[in-house]
Amino acid sequence: MIDAHIHLDMYEKDQLIAMLEPLLKEKNAPRVEGLITVSRHLDSCRRNLQLAQLYPTFVHPAFGFHPEQDLPDEAACTELFQWIRSHADDMVAVGEVGLPYYTALDKRQTGETFDTQPYLELLDQFIQLAGELDKPIVLHAVYADADAACELLEKHNVKQAHFHWFKGSHTVTQRIIANQYSVSFTPDLCYEPEIRQLATIMPIDQMMVETDGPWPFEGPFTGQITEPVMIRQVIQEIADLKRCSFHEAHTLIVQNTKAFYRLPSYG
Ligand SMILES: [Zn+2]
Repeated sequence: MIDAHIHLDMYEKDQLIAMLEPLLKEKNAPRVEGLITVSRHLDSCRRNLQLAQLYPTFVHPAFGFHPEQDLPDEAACTELFQWIRSHADDMVAVGEVGLPYYTALDKRQTGETFDTQPYLELLDQFIQLAGELDKPIVLHAVYADADAACELLEKHNVKQAHFHWFKGSHTVTQRIIANQYSVSFTPDLCYEPEIRQLATIMPIDQMMVETDGPWPFEGPFTGQITEPVMIRQVIQEIADLKRCSFHEAHTLIVQNTKAFYRLPSYG
């Protein structure tokens, strides 16, 4: 199994070792055989690169800037793009990048104004960077923001897009399916009706699974530290919803993830 979206750099060092070492020693299938660790800013990129060097063939980093925070100034932005270009051979994708849906919602709910335009411009640059470097792109773009992201992807003819923890209208879901983008499901598939509905519509050959760890989950996962092994339950849930066996769902999802991130077929 491959956790297609996790923030390894956000775990405490001891926690990380306690989480990863047993995974590396696991012999029984289905074991976790790889992780895509995404970055939030330049320091986070550097930390994820270190982790990838520490756990080669297991930890695969993506480099980007998470949209749910204040934007970097021009100098910081230039430094980040230069750093990513110079480490293109070390990364599997550009990410996590996207649009600040939750920040914008919070601001608007408290009566503040929020200008999304600079975020759209930065995303436009990241999409062009993915095209230039010929890398897949990991997107944080939900609801109306998913439409805006599709617009930019189509404009730049970037086809390898992964909408992580996707949520959105029927229309944008159909657009994502038609464009053959990928979508990943988190443990909330086990208890969120909206996400379960989405999983019934989404073709399994466009699906991946993720934890977005250390983000905490509810339902049967309440109070647990989010760990990559949780994707086993996500795959089981997909198998149940698609009326296929765990083995079939697991095989297809691993294939999708390896093909999308161009990972070798080890394990
Ligand atoms: Zn994330």
